Amino acid sequence: MGIFSKKKTNASPVKFQASNAILDAIRDGIIIISQSGNIEYLNPASATFANFDQSEAIGLKYDSVVHLVDQDGSPVQNGQDPIATAIAKNQPIDSQCLYLAKTDAKGYIPVCLTVAPIDAGPATNYVVILRNIAKELKGEQERNEFISTASHEMRSPVASIEGYLGLALNPQTATLDPRARAYLEKAHESSQHLGQLFRDLLDTSNLSDNRIKLHPVPVEITTFVKSLADGMAPIIVAKGLRYSFGQSDPELAPVASSVQLSQVIYCSLDINYLREIVDNVINNAIKYTSSGSITVSVVGDKNEAVIIVADTGMGISEAHQDHIFQKFYRVDNSQTRNTDGTGLGLFIVKQRTEAMGGRVWVRSEEGQGSKFFIAFPRISTEEYQRQKLAATSTMAPQNNPNVASTPMTPVQNV
Ligand code: ADP
Repeated sequence: MGIFSKKKTNASPVKFQASNAILDAIRDGIIIISQSGNIEYLNPASATFANFDQSEAIGLKYDSVVHLVDQDGSPVQNGQDPIATAIAKNQPIDSQCLYLAKTDAKGYIPVCLTVAPIDAGPATNYVVILRNIAKELKGEQERNEFISTASHEMRSPVASIEGYLGLALNPQTATLDPRARAYLEKAHESSQHLGQLFRDLLDTSNLSDNRIKLHPVPVEITTFVKSLADGMAPIIVAKGLRYSFGQSDPELAPVASSVQLSQVIYCSLDINYLREIVDNVINNAIKYTSSGSITVSVVGDKNEAVIIVADTGMGISEAHQDHIFQKFYRVDNSQTRNTDGTGLGLFIVKQRTEAMGGRVWVRSEEGQGSKFFIAFPRISTEEYQRQKLAATSTMAPQNNPNVASTPMTPVQNV
């Protein structure tokens, strides 16, 4: 059956036949649904997506034929169903990867969906295109595994090179003439850069690995972030910069409409991710600030806790601000060229933050310093206590990975 068979059309018979032949031959699933969500047409390929008979599906509601589930196999919620959303908004939608549960319970097919209204106007039909992306996902997984294994394997020899160069440069363990020292210092810097690159690549490949699960725990975020930032204070001060935590800052007010400075703000977060995020942003503030100060604050409104890292450094021009969270993006100017970096830090920050339901953004002006904002959903005091009790009832706190204790040591040097 052709989709145009019910309608009168001015198309020539050849065009008409060609349209049907294309729809029949195409590998993607193509389904036409009415505004009320009933299936009007589906091409043969779409039948293979969910194991239903092509003729039986006509007239049925799309969601009784196309069972969309998320990564964990749970049915997609109403707000996440791209078909329902496209109909409700009467707008085209491209979905991220979703899964089709096969009706014979044989498993899931990873798909990307494009849904678009066919005609302008309210009472239109919609075309749904289902594309099987199993091959792409497999390719991506293989690439990630390769990057992950390669960076993991290469980290150890690089750490060893870095260690021996450190020993060679230490006047207590080796004697060097000035020229050899200058060469080895350069080699040491490069080995540190290489080590950072491998760590970042490993983090990036882990990010894309769906098998890695978050371990959120209840955390009092102000104390936790203060501890991390205080731990990095010696590095900040050693660079000749001033450090402060939680100083009230008149510019913090626009973060949210009803910002209140608060001492106690609870969230449910993976503390290793949180540590990496804060560590990365403060390290950047140190790297890209040559004089002045670094201020770290945590503020909260009704819904969110916001970590703010403000510096008086080189700043970022508006043209670059949209790009700095992309993989391998570095601002290229005379100042950044002299600063080591991989362009992966903020990409990791964004991915990790969003994985925990948060968001990250920057406000900056070239030459005037930068402010990075990292916001996470808050939980109530009751919810915090409930989660904490649930976590501690199973294990003693000192042995329990599900209870966030205040970090003791800075994680990483600049
Ligand atoms: P990198 O390893 O290069 O620091 P990031 O992903 O952490 O990579 O940052 C991307 C780019 O954003 C940096 O190269 C730098 O140009 C810019 N940037 C990040 N943080 C700051 C900051 N606090 N001040 C000025 N520029 C920054």
